[in-house]
Amino acid sequence: MKYEAVIGLEVHAQLQTNTKIFCGCETAFGEEANTRTCPVCIGMPGVLPVLNRKAVEYIIKTGLATHCTISPFSRFARKNYFYPDLPKGYQISQYELPLCEHGYVEIVVDGAVKRIGITRIHLEEDAGKNLHTSESGASLVDLNRAGTPLMEIVSEPDIRTADEAAEYLKKLRSLLRYIEVSDADMEKGNFRCDCNVSIRPVGAGEFGTRAEVKNVNSFKFVQKALEYEIKRQAQILDEGGRVVQETRLFDSTKGITFSMRSKEEAHDYRYFPEPDLVPVVTSPATVESIRATIPELPDAKRERFVKEYGLPEYDADMLTQSRGLAAYFEESAALSGQPKVISNWMMGELMRLLNADNREIEACPVRPDRLAGMVKMITDGVISTKIAKTVFEEMYRTGKDAGTVVQEQGLVQVSDTGAIERIIDEVIKANPAQHADYKTGKDKLFGFFVGQVMKASKGKANPDIVNQLLKKKLAE
Ligand code: ADP
Ligand code: MG
Ligand code: ZN
Repeated sequence: MKYEAVIGLEVHAQLQTNTKIFCGCETAFGEEANTRTCPVCIGMPGVLPVLNRKAVEYIIKTGLATHCTISPFSRFARKNYFYPDLPKGYQISQYELPLCEHGYVEIVVDGAVKRIGITRIHLEEDAGKNLHTSESGASLVDLNRAGTPLMEIVSEPDIRTADEAAEYLKKLRSLLRYIEVSDADMEKGNFRCDCNVSIRPVGAGEFGTRAEVKNVNSFKFVQKALEYEIKRQAQILDEGGRVVQETRLFDSTKGITFSMRSKEEAHDYRYFPEPDLVPVVTSPATVESIRATIPELPDAKRERFVKEYGLPEYDADMLTQSRGLAAYFEESAALSGQPKVISNWMMGELMRLLNADNREIEACPVRPDRLAGMVKMITDGVISTKIAKTVFEEMYRTGKDAGTVVQEQGLVQVSDTGAIERIIDEVIKANPAQHADYKTGKDKLFGFFVGQVMKASKGKANPDIVNQLLKKKLAE
């Protein structure tokens, strides 16, 4: 590829406050249409918005967690446009004076840490929802969502690949969940992303013209939309054309993006300061009291896991994705005294089984002490690592501990040299040609014999002893 992509993301995350941003209505999902509304959030004339203190706290918490500067003075603005889901005719948002600026988020790319800059984070209200139903033959408006507090998190154009974009989004989601300001659930539309992307020849200093793909609603789609867009723009440049600045949409069934509107048709929102709300003044004391509520965050945890447990950056990054995962690891590592082995089991079998069942770590039937117990049985030579896979699956399926599973299924590792010798003798006798070839120098056949012996022992023979004895016997 002779081009490099430049990507900046704008994420809208719903804040998990109990009530809306400018009124006392409940923020509820899936309730009957227009039952969570009042004159303020349906935009009646003459009403006055009152700012939700929790929303301000949450956005400051987010700003602190992303290393932003918290503005001592910020203000709301009116963003004017017409749409049926916005009865006021304007959205209250922050414009020239956002609450948080100049931060960053760290992601791990190819085992190395990379910083993605955060330009700004600001507060705004969500709009309602238009429902186009075929039964009624009409378009209906549900304003339950109108006035739900959102924060918009704008990244610097520091992202270079679709994979990095996905990593960044995962990291952001993980952060918001750690600090409990948003459940950042993409399926529920609580975490939406606009993708800005341009390409430039590798080594070029200046950015190319960007396209903005609006409202992409899953990690996979973000990746797909970006990959498609990068290819599309490369093709235009290859053919000697020019990329035009425009807003596009992603069609997830076709896997393509298509033009929604060009720069010429872009809205002019006529922003002006919101006269019904006073400016938000945040004192250093308030900021500090909010800082005190922030738990150890994924980056700090990741660094600690590398230092304290000697884990590779990659492992540490994976295991700190959620507080639950990290806590599980720490408990199991402490009980077993073998952090890297625990990490391998968690990132391998454990995650594979959880993903297949679409389960979170909190619902994992194998608890940390049970995993530690199984690992100890491997260390003590009671079961082989290979058999342990079977044992682990059974533990996961039944919720039983390793000892019980091993006993019930007769999976104890065979370390009795006499028994293993007998198996080896049989295997050698059954494969005279391979034995002869081995003796003439075909060393590679050693693996074949190991495989045969393990198979004959149903995986229960102690591999170290098998190796030892086979070497001796094959040479005879
Ligand atoms: P707008 O308000 O029109 O969306 P902004 O200047 O706020 O524009 O930028 C929005 C996003 O676009 C930011 O995340 C920024 O990093 C990104 N961005 C800006 N320029 C480029 C570019 N040339 N290529 C890719 N992304 C860009
Ligand atoms: Mg934008
Ligand atoms: Zn209301």
